[in-house]
Amino acid sequence: MTMKRRELLLSGAGAAAGVVAAGFPASAQTAPGGIKWDREADVVVIGSGATGLPAAIVAREAGSSVILVEAQPHTGGHAICSGGNVPLGGGTSYQKKWGIKDSPDLVFQDLTDWSVVEPNGFPDYRFNDREVIRAFADNCAATYEFLVAHGVVFVDKAPDKIGGSSVGNSVPREMHAAPMDWPLIQTGKPAAPEKRTTMSTGNGLMHPLAAAAKKAGVEILLNHKMTSIHRAAPFSGPVLGIAADNDGKVVNIRAHKAVIVGTGGSTNNINFRRMFDPRLTEEYCGVAGQPWSNQDASGELAGMAIGASLWGLFNNTGEFGSGITKPGTVGGQYGYVNLRWYPGSEVFDKARAIGLHVGDWQNLVLVNMIGKRFYDETARQFTSANYGSIDPYIPHNFRNGQNLKFNPNGFLDAALAGIGDGHNGGGPIWAIFDSAGVEREQWDPKPPYVDYDAGFCFTADTIEDLAKKIVMKYQRVPMPPENLAATIARYNSFVDSGVDEDFGKPKPLHKIAKPPFYAGWATPVLHDTRAGLRINAKCQVVDMNGEVIPGLYCGGESAGGFSLHGLARATCQGFIAGTHATAEERKA
Ligand SMILES: Cc1cc2nc3c(=O)[nH]c(=O)nc-3n(C[C@H](O)[C@H](O)[C@H](O)COP(=O)(O)OP(=O)(O)OC[C@H]3O[C@@H](n4cnc5c(N)ncnc54)[C@H](O)[C@@H]3O)c2cc1C
Repeated sequence: MTMKRRELLLSGAGAAAGVVAAGFPASAQTAPGGIKWDREADVVVIGSGATGLPAAIVAREAGSSVILVEAQPHTGGHAICSGGNVPLGGGTSYQKKWGIKDSPDLVFQDLTDWSVVEPNGFPDYRFNDREVIRAFADNCAATYEFLVAHGVVFVDKAPDKIGGSSVGNSVPREMHAAPMDWPLIQTGKPAAPEKRTTMSTGNGLMHPLAAAAKKAGVEILLNHKMTSIHRAAPFSGPVLGIAADNDGKVVNIRAHKAVIVGTGGSTNNINFRRMFDPRLTEEYCGVAGQPWSNQDASGELAGMAIGASLWGLFNNTGEFGSGITKPGTVGGQYGYVNLRWYPGSEVFDKARAIGLHVGDWQNLVLVNMIGKRFYDETARQFTSANYGSIDPYIPHNFRNGQNLKFNPNGFLDAALAGIGDGHNGGGPIWAIFDSAGVEREQWDPKPPYVDYDAGFCFTADTIEDLAKKIVMKYQRVPMPPENLAATIARYNSFVDSGVDEDFGKPKPLHKIAKPPFYAGWATPVLHDTRAGLRINAKCQVVDMNGEVIPGLYCGGESAGGFSLHGLARATCQGFIAGTHATAEERKA
């Protein structure tokens, strides 16, 4: 097929080809579209996370040559940072071993149950795309068997509901990937011997899959960031391959069969995420899974640039699950509750602090950018529907909502509300604590636990001086010292009276009174994406006219239509995408 000059200039293909022509070896092949291809394979996979690695392995083992490009200098994506809690059901051999009866139909019924709502009224499953869920339900058990066959070891205990988020009410499905002897990316060392078969971590999922991909002959190109997808014409014709950036050089990789997008969502693209929620401005810089890998919406943007549609957008806006979370640690940029970076980790120089893990929120108060409290500090984040969370549960029945007590938890909404000055975003949230709190929590508020240098922690001998010291990138307006002093004095009076008259914190226990005082970063953390490119049952990407884009597949957080937290959705869609991509006819 020959591209006309005008089409070539309009498409990403033409632009990238021009750059390559200037700087790449003459031996590079010239494809029909006029692009100088530097590399070629049957299937090109973008991203080495929970979607990309299974997709690459499936395609390679079915006989396709596979190149996988990964933007980072290491594999694993957010998946390797994860808790490794994997809710794959539908009648797995694992479920059978523990006497749990499940089926594809039950998975489908659970994940499309319109009647399931959270105590704040938000529905977990109502807006799921039935075609996408049916495909997941039908491939769920096979994906589990695939993972085990490729070296993943699950903790030997009955499936439960620990670590899940919107995984269905009928039966327990959550399994836990054991780290075995693999090094943990958080520390650089293997887990303690007694925990290697009992703890749950994404290391236990992703190290074996990376090893399996290499063993199968998948060629993994690290430090290759996909920058565009080549299509025959801007909005028509088949996908031809991709352009990737490798240390400033453009590398064009031809895909004879298909390209699979597994780039992992949009949590760290400020403008993209604000399409879903205008409040998510730049101060939400503590994205979970960073700085290991970056969710910058590059897969979605590259797909949209050649005509792909976005899909199921409510799922990324609904207030359930862990899309936005309360931090679990304070004093460092990356405060996600279950992920800490230690010296020894490959990325500790970027993370800069371990953070102070909060055992009891009675030991601190939370204030906004202008030094005012906004909610009961002990309140939690949004909930989600998992096995047992609705009792009694009657599938697809209005009583599920009727039996629920409306009880919205507004902690995150209050934190994101802002200071009433016409700006979006809630601004920084600071944990204010004193040295008595430090003793009770047994904290060591010094590096490497906290990050003074980059302005995520401050200390002073008086409350007023502490407020004056809070100067950092995201502190848009100075914190008035008199505000913070008044807030702490009022809070201390609540400790005396035993009643939090402002926010109903259950019996405030401890005064903030013993210097030195501290302010630690405690701004909500963005966690995962539940909307992206429109896909069909085969994980083929669909355009704005409802037509399949030939040769383009997507799965995981970059795909839309599916409200389910993380790993099961991503691994299963990788499995589906790899299966169908490899079955495509090879283009000449
Ligand atoms: C701290 C944490 C804990 C979690 N715990 C759980 C849990 O217990 N259970 C659960 O189900 N889910 C969990 N999740 C969510 C789960 O890890 C993710 O939903 C899942 O990894 C998403 O898979 P993915 O393939 O879409 O993206 P990822 O796994 O993030 O992989 C995307 C990959 O693509 C690469 N990439 C991105 N852009 C490009 C580009 N332009 N070119 C080349 N490469 C690119 C990235 O570097 C990355 O390696 C957790 C997430 C985090 C951060």
